[in-house]
Amino acid sequence: MSDFLMQTYARQPLAFVRGEGVWLYDDKGDKYLDAVAGVAVNGLGHGHPKLAAALCEQAGRLIHTSNLYRIPEQERLAERLCGLSGLERAFFCNSGAEANEAAIKIARLHGHNKGIDNPAIVVMEKSFHGRTMATLSATGSRKVQAGFEPLVSGFVRVPYNDAGAVEKLAEHHNNIVAVLVEPYQGEGGVQIPEAGYLAGLRRICDANGWLLMLDEVQTGIGRSGKWFAFQHTAVVPDVMTLAKGLGSGVPVGACLARGVAAETFTPGRHGSTFGGGPLACTAALTTLKVMEEDGLLGNAEALGAYIRQDLAKRLQGVAGVVEIRGQGLLIGIELDRPCGDLVGMARERHLLVNVTSDTVVRLLPPLVLKREEAAQLCEKLAALIRNFLA
Ligand SMILES: *Cc1c(COP(=O)(O)O)cnc(C)c1O
Repeated sequence: MSDFLMQTYARQPLAFVRGEGVWLYDDKGDKYLDAVAGVAVNGLGHGHPKLAAALCEQAGRLIHTSNLYRIPEQERLAERLCGLSGLERAFFCNSGAEANEAAIKIARLHGHNKGIDNPAIVVMEKSFHGRTMATLSATGSRKVQAGFEPLVSGFVRVPYNDAGAVEKLAEHHNNIVAVLVEPYQGEGGVQIPEAGYLAGLRRICDANGWLLMLDEVQTGIGRSGKWFAFQHTAVVPDVMTLAKGLGSGVPVGACLARGVAAETFTPGRHGSTFGGGPLACTAALTTLKVMEEDGLLGNAEALGAYIRQDLAKRLQGVAGVVEIRGQGLLIGIELDRPCGDLVGMARERHLLVNVTSDTVVRLLPPLVLKREEAAQLCEKLAALIRNFLA
């Protein structure tokens, strides 16, 4: 462990030097099956030749100019993301937290434009929106917030998966301008809300003139088996944020919007030095292109269903397994006890997994995962979980 790094992470004793598909190789030459994918980032897996070639070509031509000028790659990416999502305009930044900052600023500005001078945004318990001051204030986790008070004000919190609780707020607050919600909660333990939840929120937002803002930083870009998780429903959001999977590891975030939300920012209201640069946008354009050409959405859908079914079979009747859930290749296995130790046990068997919300083993493998790799993953993990619970 380095003495020269701030101690923000309890790092595992592993250093990877190379990767290919779902496989990572450490500095000793050992090979690991990666079911974390940089926390839902490496959708194309590691060392993808088409991505590497596109980045090399772009880096040799142009890496950075400035948003003071037009950036053709950024314009192409905005058009592509709007085409895929049905939204109308994009703002580009460099991370999920920044994408959510943009969404929060849009909501507040929209409120002020309507004459609401203390606008509030509805947020959820157990949500995660990032580590900047506004986004950690929006996040529904005391662990993330503790020690950083005073928090940014203007957030009203309700339980997740409870549209009724949001509806009740409308009776008591006349300063609400938006609802910010994850279609599925990732950090919150892979929570999948009931089928009508987003539609319920959409109806409440429409009835009250609020913006529906979806944080798809983790669920977006094919992870759920569709481009965006909201596309499993008939709902279209007013604002959507993206980051993790968008650039396959090259930092890029986006805030997309439609209707009045898309027209809220005017010159000078928001910006980013690096946001939407040629290299990052090439990474994102290539990611989207490869995902389409290689049928990775369908692959995520099919292999996600396969993994959930196979794990359910292998863990059937095992005491301590509470639930296996997910959508596409965002999968959670909830146990009846804290299971952080499983991460180390899996590592010893050369399998990389993540535990979130203390009791949920989370699988986020690259979307290029193959059937026989998925089978290996299930076999290893089921044995580990049986061992751990025994
Ligand atoms: C990871 C995550 C973020 C924060 O993204 P960063 O790039 O780490 O700032 C925000 N929202 C959700 C849902 C996330 O999963």
